[in-house]
Amino acid sequence: MSRHPKHKKQKLQQINFAHLPGPAHRTHLTTIYTYYQEDGKTAIRASQLVVSPLAVDESPEDGDKFEESGQEDFLLVDPEVLSMEPDAQAQKRKQTLGSFPLMAWVPECVTFLDELLRLEGRGDYASQVACISCKAGAPLFQCKDCWCMELYCSDCCIELHLRLPFHHVEQWVDMHFTRVTLKSLGLRLQLGHTVGDHCCNPKCAFGDEFVVIDTNGIHDVALDFCGCRTAQTHVKQLLCACLFPATIFNPKTAATFEVLEN
Ligand SMILES: [Zn+2]
Ligand SMILES: [Zn+2]
Ligand SMILES: [Zn+2]
Repeated sequence: MSRHPKHKKQKLQQINFAHLPGPAHRTHLTTIYTYYQEDGKTAIRASQLVVSPLAVDESPEDGDKFEESGQEDFLLVDPEVLSMEPDAQAQKRKQTLGSFPLMAWVPECVTFLDELLRLEGRGDYASQVACISCKAGAPLFQCKDCWCMELYCSDCCIELHLRLPFHHVEQWVDMHFTRVTLKSLGLRLQLGHTVGDHCCNPKCAFGDEFVVIDTNGIHDVALDFCGCRTAQTHVKQLLCACLFPATIFNPKTAATFEVLEN
């Protein structure tokens, strides 16, 4: 058995397990630091190797024990491979598709790009001529937060978002989608009443401007406080709607409770 002259005493003394993508008994690429003696001096070499399960003289069950020991030596199975340069060692070892799991994605690149590009447009609804809900209005609006790519008219889009007022909606304009607010479509949030109920005396926020901070972004909304005889304070109305006001005096900004919890 011949060995590389520099490797009179070649022992692999440390493997950085933090770099391993999976259990030690799986095939993986790893960096091995090799300490060796040469002309009475101690040297270190770092090399990248594909390590197969058979390459480690440890059973998978002993992996934890080996990881703890850290400084323990281990042997590569084929001593002849040890005598080679690192590049040759890597070539020598059997490489399978499992050695490079990301390679399986490469043939699908075009598929992913095609689909992403198609979704930039109207997707499956390119030839849709009427709102998918009422079958009458112009199908111009799409929600980026609802789990659907269907196109709705503005009225149906508002109806769809009475209970989802902090979604991002886009409008098809000049052969592309552009973001619009539900406020611009006519959606108004009424506090102090159940969704869909009309208040006899609605009081819009100062300047009809109100901002809600949600986990998916910041939203300009049209918000009306209840002005009925039994109405609560504005702060309390906001809290009842799970909105935390930025101030207790004429609030114009609030954060959803979900934002606070995150
Ligand atoms: Zn419609
Ligand atoms: Zn939506
Ligand atoms: Zn009211």
